[in-house]
Amino acid sequence: MKQIVVLGGGTGGTLVANLLAKKLKSKEAQITLVSASNRHLYQPGWLYVPFGKQDPRTLSRPLASLLRKRVKLVIGKVCRLDTTTQEVELEDHTILAYDYLVLATGSQVAPEDIPGFSAGAHYFYTEEAAFKLHAALEEFRGGKIVIGVGGLPYKCPVAPLEFTFLLDEYLTDRKIRDKTELTYTFPLNRVFSIESVAEMAQPLLEERGVNIETFFNLEEVLPEEKIARSMEGTDLEYDLLIMVPPHRGAKFLQGHPIADEQGWVKTDRFTLQVKGYPNIWALGDTTDLPISKAGSTAHFEAPVIVERLAGRLRGIEEEVGEEKYEGHVMCFLETGYNKASMLNFDYTHPPKLHEPSRHVHYEKMVFNKAYWYLVPTGVL
Ligand SMILES: Cc1cc2nc3c(=O)[nH]c(=O)nc-3n(C[C@H](O)[C@H](O)[C@H](O)COP(=O)(O)OP(=O)(O)OC[C@H]3O[C@@H](n4cnc5c(N)ncnc54)[C@H](O)[C@@H]3O)c2cc1C
Repeated sequence: MKQIVVLGGGTGGTLVANLLAKKLKSKEAQITLVSASNRHLYQPGWLYVPFGKQDPRTLSRPLASLLRKRVKLVIGKVCRLDTTTQEVELEDHTILAYDYLVLATGSQVAPEDIPGFSAGAHYFYTEEAAFKLHAALEEFRGGKIVIGVGGLPYKCPVAPLEFTFLLDEYLTDRKIRDKTELTYTFPLNRVFSIESVAEMAQPLLEERGVNIETFFNLEEVLPEEKIARSMEGTDLEYDLLIMVPPHRGAKFLQGHPIADEQGWVKTDRFTLQVKGYPNIWALGDTTDLPISKAGSTAHFEAPVIVERLAGRLRGIEEEVGEEKYEGHVMCFLETGYNKASMLNFDYTHPPKLHEPSRHVHYEKMVFNKAYWYLVPTGVL
Protein backbone atom coordinates (compact mmCIF):
# COMPACT_ATOMS: atom_id res chain seq x y z
CA MET A 1 0.00 0.00 0.00
CA LYS A 2 1.32 3.43 -0.95
CA GLN A 3 1.95 6.11 1.66
CA ILE A 4 0.59 9.57 0.90
CA VAL A 5 1.71 12.26 3.33
CA VAL A 6 0.10 15.70 3.30
CA LEU A 7 1.90 18.43 5.26
CA GLY A 8 -0.24 21.22 6.74
CA GLY A 9 -3.76 21.11 8.16
CA GLY A 10 -4.99 24.44 6.83
CA THR A 11 -7.34 25.11 3.94
CA GLY A 12 -5.27 23.35 1.26
CA GLY A 13 -3.97 20.36 3.23
CA THR A 14 -7.28 19.48 4.90
CA LEU A 15 -9.13 19.66 1.61
CA VAL A 16 -6.55 17.57 -0.30
CA ALA A 17 -6.51 14.91 2.43
CA ASN A 18 -10.32 14.67 2.41
CA LEU A 19 -10.57 14.58 -1.38
CA LEU A 20 -7.89 11.87 -1.57
CA ALA A 21 -9.76 9.84 1.05
CA LYS A 22 -12.90 10.13 -1.07
CA LYS A 23 -11.15 9.28 -4.32
CA LEU A 24 -8.83 6.41 -3.34
CA LYS A 25 -9.79 3.03 -1.96
CA SER A 26 -8.43 2.08 1.48
CA LYS A 27 -6.28 -0.67 0.01
CA GLU A 28 -4.70 1.71 -2.51
CA ALA A 29 -3.13 4.16 -0.08
CA GLN A 30 -2.78 5.28 3.48
CA ILE A 31 -3.35 9.01 3.79
CA THR A 32 -1.57 10.80 6.62
CA LEU A 33 -2.05 14.48 7.38
CA VAL A 34 0.68 16.12 9.45
CA SER A 35 0.01 19.46 11.05
CA ALA A 36 1.81 21.64 13.57
CA SER A 37 -1.46 22.55 15.25
CA ASN A 38 -4.50 20.47 16.22
CA ARG A 39 -6.72 23.44 15.30
CA HIS A 40 -7.86 24.48 11.83
CA LEU A 41 -7.97 28.27 11.56
CA TYR A 42 -10.36 30.36 9.48
CA GLN A 43 -8.03 33.30 8.90
CA PRO A 44 -10.39 35.52 6.84
CA GLY A 45 -12.37 36.11 10.06
CA TRP A 46 -9.37 37.92 11.61
CA LEU A 47 -10.22 40.93 9.42
CA TYR A 48 -13.22 41.69 11.66
CA VAL A 49 -11.58 41.01 15.06
CA PRO A 50 -9.90 44.46 15.44
CA PHE A 51 -13.31 46.13 15.05
CA GLY A 52 -14.92 43.93 17.70
CA LYS A 53 -17.17 42.36 15.08
CA GLN A 54 -15.87 38.81 15.43
CA ASP A 55 -14.94 36.72 18.43
CA PRO A 56 -11.61 35.03 17.58
CA ARG A 57 -12.70 31.91 19.49
CA THR A 58 -15.27 31.21 16.77
CA LEU A 59 -12.56 31.18 14.09
CA SER A 60 -10.95 27.82 14.80
CA ARG A 61 -12.11 24.24 15.12
CA PRO A 62 -10.44 20.96 16.03
CA LEU A 63 -8.72 19.74 12.87
CA ALA A 64 -9.79 16.14 13.59
CA SER A 65 -13.46 17.17 13.41
CA LEU A 66 -13.03 18.26 9.77
CA LEU A 67 -11.33 15.09 8.51
CA ARG A 68 -12.76 11.95 6.96
CA LYS A 69 -12.25 8.94 9.24
CA ARG A 70 -9.76 7.38 6.85
CA VAL A 71 -7.27 10.22 7.18
CA LYS A 72 -4.64 9.53 9.84
CA LEU A 73 -3.84 12.75 11.69
CA VAL A 74 -0.39 13.33 13.14
CA ILE A 75 0.15 16.50 15.17
CA GLY A 76 3.74 17.67 14.97
CA LYS A 77 5.93 20.29 13.37
CA VAL A 78 7.97 19.19 10.36
CA CYS A 79 11.61 20.25 10.75
CA ARG A 80 13.26 18.34 7.89
CA LEU A 81 12.37 17.02 4.46
CA ASP A 82 14.67 14.52 2.76
CA THR A 83 13.62 14.03 -0.85
CA THR A 84 16.30 11.34 -1.42
CA THR A 85 15.13 8.94 1.29
CA GLN A 86 11.55 10.23 0.89
CA GLU A 87 11.12 11.04 4.56
CA VAL A 88 9.94 13.89 6.70
CA GLU A 89 11.10 14.41 10.25
CA LEU A 90 9.07 16.04 13.00
CA GLU A 91 10.48 18.09 15.87
CA ASP A 92 9.87 15.15 18.25
CA HIS A 93 12.16 13.05 15.95
CA THR A 94 9.29 11.01 14.47
CA ILE A 95 10.19 9.95 10.92
CA LEU A 96 7.46 9.50 8.31
CA ALA A 97 8.19 7.85 4.99
CA TYR A 98 6.21 8.78 1.89
CA ASP A 99 5.68 7.59 -1.66
CA TYR A 100 3.74 10.74 -2.56
CA LEU A 101 3.98 14.07 -0.74
CA VAL A 102 1.74 17.13 -0.77
CA LEU A 103 3.10 20.39 0.67
CA ALA A 104 0.51 22.72 2.16
CA THR A 105 2.32 24.37 5.05
CA GLY A 106 1.10 27.84 4.07
CA SER A 107 2.91 31.05 4.93
CA GLN A 108 4.01 32.56 8.20
CA VAL A 109 4.48 36.18 9.16
CA ALA A 110 8.00 37.42 9.87
CA PRO A 111 7.71 40.80 11.64
CA GLU A 112 11.29 40.30 12.88
CA ASP A 113 12.55 40.84 9.33
CA ILE A 114 11.94 44.60 9.58
CA PRO A 115 13.82 46.52 12.30
CA GLY A 116 11.45 48.06 14.83
CA PHE A 117 8.37 46.33 13.40
CA SER A 118 7.51 44.18 16.42
CA ALA A 119 7.86 47.10 18.84
CA GLY A 120 6.17 49.72 16.70
CA ALA A 121 3.57 48.16 14.41
CA HIS A 122 0.25 46.39 14.79
CA TYR A 123 -1.25 43.88 12.37
CA PHE A 124 -4.20 41.52 12.00
CA TYR A 125 -2.46 38.54 10.35
CA THR A 126 -2.47 36.28 13.42
CA GLU A 127 -5.19 35.62 15.96
CA GLU A 128 -3.15 37.19 18.76
CA ALA A 129 -2.11 40.27 16.77
CA ALA A 130 -5.69 40.91 15.63
CA PHE A 131 -6.83 40.79 19.25
CA LYS A 132 -4.08 43.21 20.36
CA LEU A 133 -5.02 45.58 17.56
CA HIS A 134 -8.61 45.50 18.80
CA ALA A 135 -7.40 46.78 22.20
CA ALA A 136 -5.27 49.48 20.53
CA LEU A 137 -8.19 50.67 18.40
CA GLU A 138 -10.51 50.79 21.40
CA GLU A 139 -8.03 53.12 23.13
CA PHE A 140 -7.52 55.29 20.05
CA ARG A 141 -9.08 58.75 20.37
CA GLY A 142 -7.81 60.42 17.18
CA GLY A 143 -4.50 61.18 15.43
CA LYS A 144 -2.57 59.68 12.55
CA ILE A 145 -3.10 56.09 11.44
CA VAL A 146 -0.84 54.60 8.78
CA ILE A 147 -2.01 51.31 7.22
CA GLY A 148 -0.06 49.42 4.63
CA VAL A 149 1.85 46.48 3.28
CA GLY A 150 5.28 45.79 4.76
CA GLY A 151 6.55 43.32 2.17
CA LEU A 152 5.66 41.30 -0.93
CA PRO A 153 4.36 38.65 -1.31
CA TYR A 154 1.70 38.47 1.42
CA LYS A 155 -1.53 36.51 1.76
CA CYS A 156 -5.01 37.75 0.97
CA PRO A 157 -3.74 40.69 -1.04
CA VAL A 158 -7.00 42.69 -0.78
CA ALA A 159 -7.11 42.48 3.05
CA PRO A 160 -5.21 45.77 3.72
CA LEU A 161 -7.60 47.62 1.39
CA GLU A 162 -10.60 45.98 3.06
CA PHE A 163 -9.16 46.87 6.46
CA THR A 164 -8.80 50.53 5.44
CA PHE A 165 -12.43 50.75 4.28
CA LEU A 166 -13.69 49.02 7.44
CA LEU A 167 -11.49 51.29 9.58
CA ASP A 168 -13.03 54.38 7.97
CA GLU A 169 -16.47 53.01 8.86
CA TYR A 170 -15.38 52.09 12.41
CA LEU A 171 -13.93 55.56 13.10
CA THR A 172 -17.04 57.22 11.63
CA ASP A 173 -19.28 55.11 13.89
CA ARG A 174 -17.17 56.14 16.88
CA LYS A 175 -17.42 59.80 15.73
CA ILE A 176 -13.64 60.25 15.63
CA ARG A 177 -13.14 60.03 11.87
CA ASP A 178 -12.80 63.83 11.61
CA LYS A 179 -10.08 63.72 14.28
CA THR A 180 -8.13 61.05 12.37
CA GLU A 181 -5.78 61.28 9.41
CA LEU A 182 -5.68 57.98 7.52
CA THR A 183 -2.80 57.09 5.18
CA TYR A 184 -2.71 53.93 3.06
CA THR A 185 0.69 52.77 1.75
CA PHE A 186 1.54 50.23 -0.97
CA PRO A 187 4.96 49.07 -2.25
CA LEU A 188 4.15 49.44 -5.98
CA ASN A 189 3.26 52.47 -8.11
CA ARG A 190 -0.49 52.05 -7.52
CA VAL A 191 -2.76 51.10 -4.62
CA PHE A 192 -2.95 47.40 -5.59
CA SER A 193 -0.91 45.01 -7.72
CA ILE A 194 -3.76 44.19 -10.15
CA GLU A 195 -4.60 47.21 -12.31
CA SER A 196 -8.39 46.80 -12.44
CA VAL A 197 -8.58 46.48 -8.65
CA ALA A 198 -6.37 49.56 -8.20
CA GLU A 199 -8.62 51.49 -10.60
CA MET A 200 -11.65 50.65 -8.51
CA ALA A 201 -10.04 51.10 -5.09
CA GLN A 202 -8.19 54.38 -5.58
CA PRO A 203 -11.29 56.59 -6.12
CA LEU A 204 -12.96 54.88 -3.15
CA LEU A 205 -9.97 55.67 -0.92
CA GLU A 206 -10.01 59.27 -2.16
CA GLU A 207 -13.75 59.56 -1.60
CA ARG A 208 -13.21 58.45 2.03
CA GLY A 209 -10.47 61.06 2.51
CA VAL A 210 -7.63 58.53 2.81
CA ASN A 211 -4.12 59.79 1.88
CA ILE A 212 -2.32 57.51 -0.54
CA GLU A 213 1.41 56.79 -0.44
CA THR A 214 2.53 54.48 -3.25
CA PHE A 215 6.11 53.21 -3.78
CA PHE A 216 6.36 52.79 -0.05
CA ASN A 217 8.55 49.78 0.76
CA LEU A 218 8.86 49.61 4.52
CA GLU A 219 12.52 49.61 5.56
CA GLU A 220 12.26 50.22 9.30
CA VAL A 221 9.98 51.39 12.06
CA LEU A 222 11.26 53.86 14.64
CA PRO A 223 8.95 53.17 17.60
CA GLU A 224 10.34 55.97 19.82
CA GLU A 225 9.90 58.67 17.17
CA LYS A 226 6.74 56.97 15.82
CA ILE A 227 7.99 57.01 12.26
CA ALA A 228 7.58 54.42 9.48
CA ARG A 229 10.47 54.79 7.02
CA SER A 230 10.49 53.49 3.46
CA MET A 231 13.41 52.34 1.27
CA GLU A 232 12.42 55.17 -1.06
CA GLY A 233 13.28 57.66 1.71
CA THR A 234 9.79 58.66 2.85
CA ASP A 235 9.16 59.11 6.57
CA LEU A 236 5.55 58.82 7.75
CA GLU A 237 4.63 59.92 11.25
CA TYR A 238 2.02 57.84 13.00
CA ASP A 239 0.11 57.49 16.24
CA LEU A 240 -1.04 54.00 15.26
CA LEU A 241 0.81 51.93 12.68
CA ILE A 242 -0.94 48.92 11.08
CA MET A 243 1.29 47.06 8.63
CA VAL A 244 1.08 43.63 7.01
CA PRO A 245 4.34 41.95 8.09
CA PRO A 246 6.66 40.25 5.58
CA HIS A 247 5.72 36.62 4.86
CA ARG A 248 7.85 33.49 4.54
CA GLY A 249 7.26 29.82 3.72
CA ALA A 250 7.67 27.22 6.52
CA LYS A 251 11.11 27.20 8.14
CA PHE A 252 12.08 23.69 6.91
CA LEU A 253 11.51 24.90 3.34
CA GLN A 254 13.58 28.09 3.57
CA GLY A 255 16.70 27.44 1.50
CA HIS A 256 15.71 23.79 0.79
CA PRO A 257 16.56 22.76 -2.81
CA ILE A 258 12.84 22.53 -3.66
CA ALA A 259 12.23 26.12 -2.54
CA ASP A 260 13.86 29.54 -2.59
CA GLU A 261 15.56 31.31 0.32
CA GLN A 262 12.22 32.54 1.63
CA GLY A 263 10.68 29.07 1.55
CA TRP A 264 8.40 29.46 -1.49
CA VAL A 265 8.25 26.10 -3.23
CA LYS A 266 9.18 25.96 -6.93
CA THR A 267 5.88 24.79 -8.39
CA ASP A 268 4.63 24.17 -11.93
CA ARG A 269 1.82 26.67 -12.50
CA PHE A 270 -0.45 24.18 -14.31
CA THR A 271 0.31 20.75 -12.82
CA LEU A 272 1.20 22.02 -9.31
CA GLN A 273 4.00 19.47 -9.28
CA VAL A 274 7.12 20.58 -7.46
CA LYS A 275 9.64 21.22 -10.23
CA GLY A 276 11.96 18.24 -10.70
CA TYR A 277 10.07 16.03 -8.20
CA PRO A 278 7.37 13.90 -9.93
CA ASN A 279 5.97 12.57 -6.61
CA ILE A 280 5.66 15.92 -4.78
CA TRP A 281 2.97 18.58 -5.25
CA ALA A 282 2.39 21.93 -3.57
CA LEU A 283 -0.66 24.15 -3.14
CA GLY A 284 -1.85 27.23 -1.31
CA ASP A 285 0.36 29.90 0.16
CA THR A 286 3.54 27.83 0.11
CA THR A 287 3.97 27.83 -3.69
CA ASP A 288 6.06 30.37 -5.58
CA LEU A 289 3.25 30.90 -8.11
CA PRO A 290 2.69 34.49 -9.20
CA ILE A 291 -0.92 34.50 -8.02
CA SER A 292 -2.78 35.57 -4.89
CA LYS A 293 -1.97 33.64 -1.76
CA ALA A 294 -5.58 32.98 -0.79
CA GLY A 295 -7.78 30.24 0.60
CA SER A 296 -9.73 30.20 -2.65
CA THR A 297 -6.49 29.57 -4.56
CA ALA A 298 -5.83 26.46 -2.44
CA HIS A 299 -9.48 25.47 -2.85
CA PHE A 300 -9.30 25.52 -6.66
CA GLU A 301 -5.86 23.88 -6.73
CA ALA A 302 -6.73 20.88 -4.55
CA PRO A 303 -8.78 18.85 -7.08
CA VAL A 304 -5.98 19.15 -9.66
CA ILE A 305 -3.46 17.61 -7.27
CA VAL A 306 -5.89 14.87 -6.25
CA GLU A 307 -6.57 13.85 -9.87
CA ARG A 308 -2.90 13.92 -10.81
CA LEU A 309 -1.73 12.09 -7.70
CA ALA A 310 -4.42 9.41 -8.11
CA GLY A 311 -3.47 9.02 -11.77
CA ARG A 312 0.21 8.65 -10.89
CA LEU A 313 -0.57 6.16 -8.14
CA ARG A 314 -2.76 4.06 -10.43
CA GLY A 315 -0.29 4.32 -13.28
CA ILE A 316 -2.78 5.98 -15.61
CA GLU A 317 -1.16 9.36 -15.79
CA GLU A 318 -1.97 9.80 -19.49
CA GLU A 319 -5.68 9.75 -18.69
CA VAL A 320 -5.51 12.53 -16.14
CA GLY A 321 -2.69 14.48 -17.73
CA GLU A 322 -5.18 17.08 -18.94
CA GLU A 323 -6.19 18.15 -15.43
CA LYS A 324 -4.71 21.62 -14.98
CA TYR A 325 -4.88 24.55 -12.60
CA GLU A 326 -5.66 27.61 -14.69
CA GLY A 327 -4.95 30.16 -11.97
CA HIS A 328 -8.53 30.56 -10.71
CA VAL A 329 -8.87 32.84 -7.66
CA MET A 330 -12.03 34.27 -6.12
CA CYS A 331 -11.99 36.92 -3.41
CA PHE A 332 -14.50 39.19 -1.77
CA LEU A 333 -13.50 42.82 -1.28
CA GLU A 334 -15.23 44.50 1.66
CA THR A 335 -15.63 48.23 1.01
CA GLY A 336 -17.28 49.17 4.33
CA TYR A 337 -20.78 50.32 5.22
CA ASN A 338 -22.16 46.79 4.54
CA LYS A 339 -21.03 46.71 0.93
CA ALA A 340 -18.54 44.55 -0.91
CA SER A 341 -17.31 43.72 -4.39
CA MET A 342 -15.88 40.48 -5.74
CA LEU A 343 -12.80 39.48 -7.74
CA ASN A 344 -12.91 36.42 -9.95
CA PHE A 345 -9.90 35.81 -12.19
CA ASP A 346 -7.35 33.36 -13.56
CA TYR A 347 -3.99 33.37 -15.35
CA THR A 348 -5.43 34.84 -18.54
CA HIS A 349 -8.50 36.77 -17.37
CA PRO A 350 -7.89 39.73 -15.04
CA PRO A 351 -10.71 40.53 -12.62
CA LYS A 352 -13.59 42.74 -13.70
CA LEU A 353 -15.01 44.38 -10.62
CA HIS A 354 -18.64 45.16 -9.96
CA GLU A 355 -19.92 48.19 -8.13
CA PRO A 356 -19.81 47.36 -4.39
CA SER A 357 -23.20 46.10 -3.23
CA ARG A 358 -24.98 44.95 -0.08
CA HIS A 359 -25.77 41.69 -1.82
CA VAL A 360 -22.09 40.71 -2.17
CA HIS A 361 -21.32 41.82 1.41
CA TYR A 362 -24.02 39.50 2.75
CA GLU A 363 -22.77 36.71 0.50
CA LYS A 364 -19.41 37.06 2.24
CA MET A 365 -21.08 37.02 5.66
CA VAL A 366 -22.85 33.77 4.75
CA PHE A 367 -19.67 32.28 3.32
CA ASN A 368 -17.76 33.11 6.54
CA LYS A 369 -20.19 30.89 8.44
CA ALA A 370 -20.60 28.20 5.78
CA TYR A 371 -16.83 27.74 5.27
CA TRP A 372 -16.62 24.94 7.84
CA TYR A 373 -19.21 22.81 6.08
CA LEU A 374 -18.23 23.55 2.50
CA VAL A 375 -14.52 24.12 1.97
CA PRO A 376 -12.20 21.88 4.07
CA THR A 377 -14.66 19.00 3.74
CA GLY A 378 -14.68 19.19 -0.06
CA VAL A 379 -18.46 19.64 -0.35
CA LEU A 380 -18.11 22.81 -2.48
C1 LIG B 1 -6.60 38.58 7.71
C2 LIG B 1 -6.70 37.56 6.59
C3 LIG B 1 -7.80 37.59 5.75
C4 LIG B 1 -7.91 36.65 4.73
N1 LIG B 1 -9.00 36.70 3.92
C5 LIG B 1 -9.12 35.81 2.92
C6 LIG B 1 -10.27 35.82 2.07
O1 LIG B 1 -11.18 36.63 2.25
N2 LIG B 1 -10.33 34.92 1.07
C7 LIG B 1 -9.33 34.01 0.86
O2 LIG B 1 -9.45 33.20 -0.08
N3 LIG B 1 -8.24 33.96 1.64
C8 LIG B 1 -8.10 34.84 2.66
N4 LIG B 1 -7.00 34.79 3.49
C9 LIG B 1 -5.87 33.91 3.15
C10 LIG B 1 -6.09 32.46 3.53
O3 LIG B 1 -6.42 32.33 4.90
C11 LIG B 1 -4.82 31.67 3.22
O4 LIG B 1 -4.37 32.02 1.95
C12 LIG B 1 -5.11 30.18 3.28
O5 LIG B 1 -5.39 29.81 4.60
C13 LIG B 1 -3.95 29.40 2.71
O6 LIG B 1 -4.17 28.03 2.87
P1 LIG B 1 -2.94 27.05 3.06
O7 LIG B 1 -3.50 25.69 3.22
O8 LIG B 1 -1.92 27.29 2.03
O9 LIG B 1 -2.25 27.53 4.43
P2 LIG B 1 -2.89 27.62 5.87
O10 LIG B 1 -4.36 27.61 5.82
O11 LIG B 1 -2.23 28.79 6.54
O12 LIG B 1 -2.42 26.29 6.57
C14 LIG B 1 -1.08 25.97 6.80
C15 LIG B 1 -1.05 24.79 7.75
O13 LIG B 1 0.28 24.28 7.82
C16 LIG B 1 0.62 24.02 9.18
N5 LIG B 1 2.07 24.12 9.27
C17 LIG B 1 2.85 25.21 9.06
N6 LIG B 1 4.15 24.90 9.21
C18 LIG B 1 4.18 23.58 9.52
C19 LIG B 1 5.23 22.65 9.81
N7 LIG B 1 6.52 23.01 9.81
N8 LIG B 1 4.89 21.37 10.08
C20 LIG B 1 3.59 20.97 10.09
N9 LIG B 1 2.57 21.80 9.83
C21 LIG B 1 2.87 23.08 9.55
C22 LIG B 1 -0.15 25.09 9.96
O14 LIG B 1 -0.34 24.70 11.31
C23 LIG B 1 -1.45 25.13 9.18
O15 LIG B 1 -2.34 24.13 9.64
C24 LIG B 1 -6.89 35.68 4.56
C25 LIG B 1 -5.80 35.64 5.42
C26 LIG B 1 -5.70 36.56 6.44
C27 LIG B 1 -4.52 36.51 7.38
